[in-house]
Amino acid sequence: HEPEEDPEEARIKKLLAEYRGVWVFVEQTEGEAAKVSWELLGKGKELADALKTELCAVVLGHEVEHLCKQAFGYGAEKVYLLDAPVLRHYRTKSYERCFCALAEKYRPEVILMGATGQGRDLAGVVATRLKTGLTADCTGLGIDDKRNLMQTRPAFGGNIMATIMCDKYRPQMSTVRPHVMAMPEFDPMANGEIVREAVNVAENEIPVKVLEILKDGSGSKVDISGAEFIVSGGRGLMGPENFPMLQELADVLGGVVGASRSAVDAGWMPPDRQVGQTGKTVRPKIYIACGISGAIQHLVGMQDSDVIIAINRDPEAPIFEVATYGIVGDLFKIVPAFTRKLKEM
Ligand code: FAD
Repeated sequence: HEPEEDPEEARIKKLLAEYRGVWVFVEQTEGEAAKVSWELLGKGKELADALKTELCAVVLGHEVEHLCKQAFGYGAEKVYLLDAPVLRHYRTKSYERCFCALAEKYRPEVILMGATGQGRDLAGVVATRLKTGLTADCTGLGIDDKRNLMQTRPAFGGNIMATIMCDKYRPQMSTVRPHVMAMPEFDPMANGEIVREAVNVAENEIPVKVLEILKDGSGSKVDISGAEFIVSGGRGLMGPENFPMLQELADVLGGVVGASRSAVDAGWMPPDRQVGQTGKTVRPKIYIACGISGAIQHLVGMQDSDVIIAINRDPEAPIFEVATYGIVGDLFKIVPAFTRKLKEM
């Protein structure tokens, strides 16, 4: 007489066997893909290899077939394409309906989306509809020996890094901020299978109409998240009047000026320059931290930079733990000397 299997365990076993494939949502605006989607394909490939499953991209929009070619170039083996006028602009309801129908039909094991305006909105409603979990703003993703997605993200105000699993439900869903994952190489020769699916939503079912798209013309034109060289200032700068000193160094390098939250909260720099957990995630070739102590909330936004140079007069400052090169001293002497030397070169 065999002992009866626990119904909950049986449900989980069945569930884990039914779901396969790693999916990346290709976010697009007016036919142009968000770079984070390609970064996620890069990470998705690693996960798909670990799971021995296929990497798929999901493209929703109108007249967006050119994105399939790009998705193959960045590593997708298959693209699910839903192309219809009703999907021209991102609207929660139409995208959610289409995405969920697709996920219910093909049952992916993992779904990744960018932690952007679109991705955060869509991931939330899709996870709710599919009755599964979602981990937002992940900074690390891996697979354990039971096919669970290990999702790492800062928790409790950034004071600890938590690893979260969704081991009893599928799909496993994460959002990841732009620039957290490395951009994969593009292979222009790559090709794959396009699966065209019917669109199951009509215009009159959607309560939102897009009348006009206004481009952001508000803030500074500087986009720190894509910069190759960043010179950041913190509370050690003492005031806004000292930021031009950093700007001069940034200009010599062809880079931009960033800031810690303390400098932004003090009104020394605008919020779009903030690096960190509640600011932007950056991944420049060189990040120069001037008068920044290196609180964990700052580090999570810049620790993946290729080279980190820290200038701080406190030898115990935590920024030195992530720095490639550390300079202990007064930034008011070091920064101008550094700029002068570079100008001479
Ligand atoms: P401080 O910690 O005050 O450090 C100033 C440093 O300057 C010191 O190390 C000092 O030795 C050095 N210094 C002073 N004078 C000189 C000099 N003349 N020469 C050289 N060095 C000098 N912070 C962020 O940056 N980004 C975020 O996105 C962010 N999000 C947060 C989210 C939450 C939920 C919380 C709770 C906090 C967040 N913070 C964030 C704040 C973070 O915890 C720190 O308070 C902040 O990063 C500190 O900024 P700072 O390094 O400029 O200032």
